[in-house]
Amino acid sequence: MKTFKDIYRQAENKIAGIAAAPGIIIGEAYLYTKEKLQISKADIDDIEKAKSDLVEAIAKSKKELNKIFTIAREKMDEIRAAIFEAQLMILDDPILLDEITRRIESEKKSPEYIVDDEISKYQSKMILSHESYMKERALDIEDIKQRIIRNLQKKRWESKIEHNVIVVSDTLTPADTILLSRNKVLAFVTDHGGLTSHAAIISRSLNIPAVVGTHNATGQIKDNDEIIVDGFYGYVIVKPSDSQKEFFIGKRKRLLELQRDLEELKDEKAVTVDGREIKLFANVDVSGEIEIVITSGANGIGLYRSEQILNELGEFPNEDEQTTIYSKLASRIYPHTVTIRVFDIGGDKFRFLDFEEPNPFLGLRGIRLLLENPAMLKTQVRAILKSSTNKNIKMMLPMVSTLKEIREAKKIIQECKKELKAEKAKFDEDIEVGIMIEVPSAAVMAKDFSREVDFVSIGTNDLVQYLMAVDRGNDLVSNLYQEFSPVVINTLKHIIDETKKSKKPVSLCGEMAADTLAMPLLLGLGLDSLSMSPSTIPYAKRIIRSCDYKKAKRLTAQCLKMQSEDEVKALIEDFFKKNKITRTRQII
Ligand code: PEP
Ligand code: MG
Repeated sequence: MKTFKDIYRQAENKIAGIAAAPGIIIGEAYLYTKEKLQISKADIDDIEKAKSDLVEAIAKSKKELNKIFTIAREKMDEIRAAIFEAQLMILDDPILLDEITRRIESEKKSPEYIVDDEISKYQSKMILSHESYMKERALDIEDIKQRIIRNLQKKRWESKIEHNVIVVSDTLTPADTILLSRNKVLAFVTDHGGLTSHAAIISRSLNIPAVVGTHNATGQIKDNDEIIVDGFYGYVIVKPSDSQKEFFIGKRKRLLELQRDLEELKDEKAVTVDGREIKLFANVDVSGEIEIVITSGANGIGLYRSEQILNELGEFPNEDEQTTIYSKLASRIYPHTVTIRVFDIGGDKFRFLDFEEPNPFLGLRGIRLLLENPAMLKTQVRAILKSSTNKNIKMMLPMVSTLKEIREAKKIIQECKKELKAEKAKFDEDIEVGIMIEVPSAAVMAKDFSREVDFVSIGTNDLVQYLMAVDRGNDLVSNLYQEFSPVVINTLKHIIDETKKSKKPVSLCGEMAADTLAMPLLLGLGLDSLSMSPSTIPYAKRIIRSCDYKKAKRLTAQCLKMQSEDEVKALIEDFFKKNKITRTRQII
């Protein structure tokens, strides 16, 4: 019987990339381009036609937005969906529309030029405003402006995806990924991006297979081409032959069977054959994921990336709105706990600053940005506290790189508690506060850092990036992004041992936790729990339940002495073989 390796050795119609989200999909390609629209400033003769083109483009934009609004209301809660309602209202603004029409008549320039110029004027005023709310509205208006211009130019717009397609794009932002996922996207293929870029993480969360970092898939795949996306091995097959199709249809079938078998593990514990239990928590990156968490058999939510709310909403919700979101979340997950990470903005997530930072991943990110904007942090902390009456919420601080940051954040949390007490509001006075360890400085001084807090969670996605000086989203250096490097695993060992010295629990919530190959190693390092995309929990559970903790510890001790990632991986592969434990891609 043919194996994946046989298929790829022979295939001339393959494109190699990075396996970013597992799964096998056969479908039609949809080339998604976000090219900057060229605006024509041409003079026009036919004013009436220009005006009717404008009316038509606005009507079309409204229709599209109405559709998105309907989907948003189905997939998200009311508060989040309201953003699209607000956008629709702008399309109905008579002052704006009258002014555009008046200028078309008087200046006799193309409507796309007038639309661009007129809406840009509004945006500039908003960006200059001191209120962050107004600044954020400027971004929404950009979306509407682009939509009208695109419709004036009669170009295709992503919201028109109506049937099941595979989106092929040069890059995808986290916001694109969420937006496109609202449509019927079967899989993602991108030219650029790395395994732990946030777009890839969201794909995994949404259970949408993805191959990223292909360099030139958009040059090799045409619209409507039939393609196969293999999110296990990181390949795309273009215009497959009948025998290739037959092979992948078979694999898909077996994968679905495996998923059904794994459902039986839902209520079983993640316990090794010699009795060590590891708690498995879920990472939540999109609101629709909560239901998957409930059905995945997770012990709770180990990482709630709260900044996803901003991506979905496109704005900062106020204290009441945030309280509604967190309270609903806490009740839905009760009696389990949810660890809410305060907004981790910056890097490749949610644009907040009006200017481009030269090195966003080394810039105003995570806790740094929050401490620069204490009002924003306070609003969120108050909302989290007010939602904590059932005592099942924990709070986590991202991107901590100094002890001072922890102390300042804790001071703000104390202030919020004091205020709420004065207001006679109910909250969990003993709410646990933890930190992410994802920056080398925090790793080096893990004992001192962990002493200041109630728990620690290791964020390997960033830790690897900062430790190896390699951008987590850049496919040009993805060969240096080595989660299995002895450098990384010795650092993990140091963090875990040092945190244990201060008697604090330590978890790991980076994507490494979802890699079945890493499982025996993470077990052997002595982690108390892991947090991963909910859809990967059954796979992790299956591996843990086949492992022997004592053997895993011996394996880890050996790995720690190796000098290269290849040697570490070879040792682990050997461990799987010797102990007759199979990984998903070997089963299907
Ligand atoms: C991490 O860095 O490992 C992490 C979990 O946080 P994020 O991926 O959101 O940066
Ligand atoms: Mg991180």
